[in-house]
Amino acid sequence: MTRLCVPLSVPHPDAVDTALADAARAAEFGADLIEWRVDALAGVEGGTEATARLIEQGPLPCVLTCRHADEGGAFDGDEADRVALLHHASKLARPPAYLDVEWAKLEALPAPLRAKLDDAAARCGLIASAHDFTTRPAHLDRTIAGMAGSDAVRVAKLAWRARSIRDNVEAFEIVSRRLKPTVALCMGEDGLASRVLAKKFGALLTFASLDDARGTAPGQPTLDEIKNLYRWDALTLDTKVFGVIGHPVGHSMSPAIHNAAFDRLALDGEPFDGVYLPLPIPDAYEAFKATMLTWLDFEPLHFRGASVTIPHKANLLRFVREQGGRVEALAEQIGAANTLTVGDDGALHATNTDYAAILDATCDRLGVDRSGLRGLKVAVFGAGGVARAIVAGFAHHGAGVTVFNRTPERAQALAEAFGVTAAPLDAAPAHAADVWINGTSVGMSPGADTCVLAEPPTNWNAETVVFDTVYNPMRTALLALAESHGCRTIDGVDMFVRQAAAQFTGWTRRPAPIDAMRRVVVNRLTG
Ligand code: NAP
Repeated sequence: MTRLCVPLSVPHPDAVDTALADAARAAEFGADLIEWRVDALAGVEGGTEATARLIEQGPLPCVLTCRHADEGGAFDGDEADRVALLHHASKLARPPAYLDVEWAKLEALPAPLRAKLDDAAARCGLIASAHDFTTRPAHLDRTIAGMAGSDAVRVAKLAWRARSIRDNVEAFEIVSRRLKPTVALCMGEDGLASRVLAKKFGALLTFASLDDARGTAPGQPTLDEIKNLYRWDALTLDTKVFGVIGHPVGHSMSPAIHNAAFDRLALDGEPFDGVYLPLPIPDAYEAFKATMLTWLDFEPLHFRGASVTIPHKANLLRFVREQGGRVEALAEQIGAANTLTVGDDGALHATNTDYAAILDATCDRLGVDRSGLRGLKVAVFGAGGVARAIVAGFAHHGAGVTVFNRTPERAQALAEAFGVTAAPLDAAPAHAADVWINGTSVGMSPGADTCVLAEPPTNWNAETVVFDTVYNPMRTALLALAESHGCRTIDGVDMFVRQAAAQFTGWTRRPAPIDAMRRVVVNRLTG
C-alpha cells in the first residue's frame, strides 16, 4: 500500500513541541507516515535529543531525513555529525521506519562512516534518494540501476523537476518497473500527476504537505488536497484518469467539479473508479500533440479523457483528426472542441459540450426541445470562441441569429461563416429578439459593473430570455438589468455546469450528479 507521508521541518531543537502538534494534526487528517526533516539539528547542541523526542513521541512511523544543502536541504555540516544523528536514532527503542540519505552522498562516504550508516540502516530501511530541483537529470537510468543493485538500499527514491507533464509518465514507468520499493516524483506544477497517481502505480509513498506553507518541494499537494480533492482513498491500480488541459489551468474549477461528481456517485452506491487532474500544456500544437501521444500510449495510465480549454480547443480537433479519430460535425464547424473522450480500445472522440450546454439551458428556460428553437430570434453579443459556439448551435437548429460585436469586422466574419446576420453594437437596443445572449467577457469580475448593453432593448418583456455566459459574478449587471425588466434569465454557472456534466456523462456513461457539481461551483464563487 502506498503511504501518504507528511514532511515536517524542524528548524531548531526548541521547535519539537510545535512539530509534534503538527504531526498529531497530520495523523488526524489521515497521514500514514511523518518525514522528520531534521536538516537543522545535526551537529547542533540539543539536536540529538530533540530528534529522539520527535521519533519516540511522534504519533506515526517516520522517515528520518537530514537533507544536504546540495539536494535542496539545509544541512551543510560535517558528514560525521549527520551519520551520528542517524545512527543514534536507529538505536532508539522505536527507531524510524526509514532513514533517507542522498545516493550521491552515500557513494562518497568514507568507509568508516559508511559502515556506521549501514549498521544504522540494518535497524531501519535505507532510502537512497536523488533530487534535481531544476530539470530531469541526465543520468537517471544509471542512478536507478545503482540504487537497485545496492544491497544496503531498501528503497530507491527519485525526484526531479518536471520539464512538462510528459515527465510524469517516466515516473510511472520507473515505479512500474521497480526491482525494489520505489518512489519517483516530479516536482513543480507539471509534476502533480506523479504525486497523486503514485498510489495507482504502487510507489512506496507520496508526500503531501500539512498546509500550503509547509511543503518541502515545489508542487507538493496539501494533505487536504490529495485526500479530499484528488480522491486518494479511492485510487486503485485501475483508476481511469481524466483532466483539464489548458494553459494556465491552476485556477480551473474543473478538478473540484469532476472529482466531486465521482465522490457523489460513490456515495450513491454507483462508484466509478476515476480521478480528474489539472494538466497544463504550453501553447503550441507540437507540445499538445507530443503530450497527448505520450499519455495515450502509456496504457497502464488508463487516460480516458479530458476537458480542453484555452489555448488548445482547435488543437484538439486537429489532433483527433490526424489520429483518425471521430470529430463531432458541429465541433468541426465551430472550429473548436472542448472534450476528448478515449475509448477503452484507444479510439478518440472530440466533441463540443459548450454549444450543447447553451442550447439545453435555453430550451429548458423556454420549455421547448431543440426543435422548438426553429424560427426563434436570437441576439448574440461577441465574436470570440464562446460566441462562435452559440451562433453555430442556434443557426444549426434554424434560429434567426443576429451577431453584435465591438469589432464589427469580426461580427461580420462570424455571421458569414454560419449564414446569419451581423449588426452594429449600438443598434442592439432597438433590435427585437426572443433570446439575448452575452458571449463576450464584458461584465466579468473585476469589471462586474460593466454591461454589453448601454440601455435595455425596447422589446424586453416577461417572455424574453436573457442569458449571460459570464459566471463570475453569478449575477452580472446584464442579468440584473434583465430581471428589473421582468425577463427570464440564465446565468453562466448553468452553462458551466451543464458543459461539465455532459463531459462527465460522456466519459462515465452515467447520469451526472448535476446538483453536486453545481454546489461546487457556487461554493467556489460565493465562498
Ligand atoms: P474571446 O474569444 O476572447 O472573445 C471575447 C469577446 O468579448 C470578443 O467578441 C470581444 O470583442 C469581446 N469583448 C472583450 N472585451 C470587450 C469590451 N470591453 N467591450 C466589448 N466587447 C468586448 O473569449 P471567449 O472564449 O469567447 O469567452 C468569452 C466569455 O465567455 C469569457 O470571458 C467567459 O466569461 C465566458 N465563458 C463562459 C463559460 C461558461 O461555461 N459559462 C465558458 C467559457 C467562457 P472583440 O472581438 O471586439 O475583441
